Amino acid sequence: MLKRLEVKTSSRVQLIEITSQVRTFLRSENMTSGVLILYIPHSTCGITINENADPAVKEDILSFLDTMVPRDHEYRHVEGNADAHIKASLLGSSVTVFVESSALVLGTWQGIFLAEFDGPRKRSVLLKLLPD
Ligand code: ZN
Repeated sequence: MLKRLEVKTSSRVQLIEITSQVRTFLRSENMTSGVLILYIPHSTCGITINENADPAVKEDILSFLDTMVPRDHEYRHVEGNADAHIKASLLGSSVTVFVESSALVLGTWQGIFLAEFDGPRKRSVLLKLLPD
């Protein structure tokens, strides 16, 4: 069954760590082993897995994306959020995580991040568990 996590973002551009929310969801399910797919049903928001230890990594990712895709470029999209669409596509709209012994299989320093590029908004993360 498809599940949904709600995430409220608080600024226009932001990486929000959602690993603990995902773990809470996993505890509510009775699946010990399989695959978890996380999908973002938005066009100006993405998802990524990266370092969760040094907060400077998040800042570097956002800063570098902003250098690559500045907000004030002459885009054709009239909504004024073309940079957000491009950044969302660069990061992607889904990640896959293995589940073993009812736990997420992540590297020691890894966390799952929702990437907001046109907030603040209420966002959804769709989750699909595929048991072994
Ligand atoms: Zn738009």
